[in-house]
Amino acid sequence: MRVTVLSGGIGGARFLMGLRELGHDVTVIGNTGDDVTFLGLRICPDLDSVMYTLGGGISAERGWGREDESFRVRDELEAYAARIPDAGVPGWFGLGDLDLATHLLRSQWLAAGVPLSEVTARLCRRWEPGVRLLPATDAPVETHVSLVDGRRVHFQEWWVRLHAEVAATGFEVVGAAAALPGPGVLDALAGADAVLVSPSNPVVSVGAILAVRGVADGLRATPAPVVGLSPIVGGAPVRGMADACLSAVGVETSAAAVARHYGARARGGLIDGWLVDTADAGEAAASGVPTRAVPLLMTDVEATAAMARAALDLADEVRR
Ligand code: GDP
Ligand code: CA
Repeated sequence: MRVTVLSGGIGGARFLMGLRELGHDVTVIGNTGDDVTFLGLRICPDLDSVMYTLGGGISAERGWGREDESFRVRDELEAYAARIPDAGVPGWFGLGDLDLATHLLRSQWLAAGVPLSEVTARLCRRWEPGVRLLPATDAPVETHVSLVDGRRVHFQEWWVRLHAEVAATGFEVVGAAAALPGPGVLDALAGADAVLVSPSNPVVSVGAILAVRGVADGLRATPAPVVGLSPIVGGAPVRGMADACLSAVGVETSAAAVARHYGARARGGLIDGWLVDTADAGEAAASGVPTRAVPLLMTDVEATAAMARAALDLADEVRR
């Protein structure tokens, strides 16, 4: 089966670990809205989370970045910043020494005119993630966040530096409306046997993919069934601060509200089916699409593979 998955970073990557166990032909459309340039280096946190997780290089403890990481370069940069306050050192962003090698190569290739899709394919030659990883777009896009205090900051600054503690009033994926979907993205939607929306952040991960011009229409038009998995379990994000993103766009933090946010494809929305955790089974009727309740905690690869199997079973049920 050809399965296409919309994925953010950590949540999406963990889901893919389970899906990969089922042995299907998997294509991942990865979020690039988190991308950022620091120190002249282009950093793609969500693509790297997928690549490192599936390639066995992710830090198990942190959940992001590399295992056995050191931070000597960051320490050295901070020694400069201590004397040069406007040095432009993003001390709050965790740039490890091993991780830097990825960003150095990516930046060198991008500067030479290699598109991000090809850069990603090259990096994956080393990591062999076992899936085809496609950036949502080759165009540089970045999610910017408007804050209640009137500031407007890059998503990374709000998420990592401010811990999403200052309330957001809105998000803009700068560049997305004019961007084209990356090579293979629309074909991966049109040619899939099933499309899965991973339990990624609905606003800044999945939302930023869908903001790329043409991607949401590609999802609406695919003959394949589209099934989403809830990132909200028991009325809360399992990890991270997705609730801060949902409330900024006026969506309640509940499994059913996220399903209604995506909307039923039958009525111009994006999904045909929705998986919720058994804790949220009572909300199933409020989702607006056929909904099944199964355990949705990605505690290990086996549990996650069972989630993926349930998602594909639901895709079969709702296939038109
Ligand atoms: P990020 O880009 O690294 O923030 O990762 P994603 O956007 O791909 O995924 C983040 C989302 O994954 C969060 O909103 C979490 O609620 C969700 N998530 C994390 N672990 C689990 C889990 O075990 N089960 C479910 N259902 N969702 C999870
Ligand atoms: Ca992310």
